[in-house]
Amino acid sequence: MPLGPVGMGTSSSVSILVLDAGGTPRRWIDVEEAVGYYYKRQVAWDLGEHAFTLRGGVNRATGERSTLTLRSIVAVRGDCSRRARFEHTPALTRSMLFARDRFICAYCGGRFRPGDLTAEHVQPQSRGGRCTWTNLVSACKPCNLRKGNRTPEQARMPLLYVPYVPSLHEAFILRNRRILADQMEFLMAGVPATSRLHAADGMAAAI
Ligand SMILES: [Zn+2]
Repeated sequence: MPLGPVGMGTSSSVSILVLDAGGTPRRWIDVEEAVGYYYKRQVAWDLGEHAFTLRGGVNRATGERSTLTLRSIVAVRGDCSRRARFEHTPALTRSMLFARDRFICAYCGGRFRPGDLTAEHVQPQSRGGRCTWTNLVSACKPCNLRKGNRTPEQARMPLLYVPYVPSLHEAFILRNRRILADQMEFLMAGVPATSRLHAADGMAAAI
């Protein structure tokens, strides 16, 4: 049965935040996939100020058109909650690294577009430095070139911030550029106070 959005015309570009029944974030999904959970009656509970009303087919007996209202945060029973516990270290991608660092070069402090940033090894790979959240920082191309295969001490280029592993909730924020306000509020409540997302301009810059 084809469903079309009513009222909120932007629902196709919106992601729904899926939680397990215990409230732990699991995935970002599109509205269509979320509809499936409602129809399969796998939604344990939902919340969020954003509600999307979708229109379905017309019931021949009653002549009424079916509708479905879904919310921006959906807790799902079943397959989602039975999955293995979410790995504690979020997968590292360049875009998430740049978002973690708020697009600021760790050496000169300038803010750059993603295309002008590099994922820079604090301890160079040639010296055993690994591709991990705690050994990578965002660096502009000139700084990356200048530092070369040296440690920050050798290059006399001290780090302006300390690289860290994002928490689960923070990773969900870094992964999605178009988070709705209610989803952001939910996720930020689970972000440790030490995260840079709590910095004064952190949230705006991370999105
Ligand atoms: Zn720089």
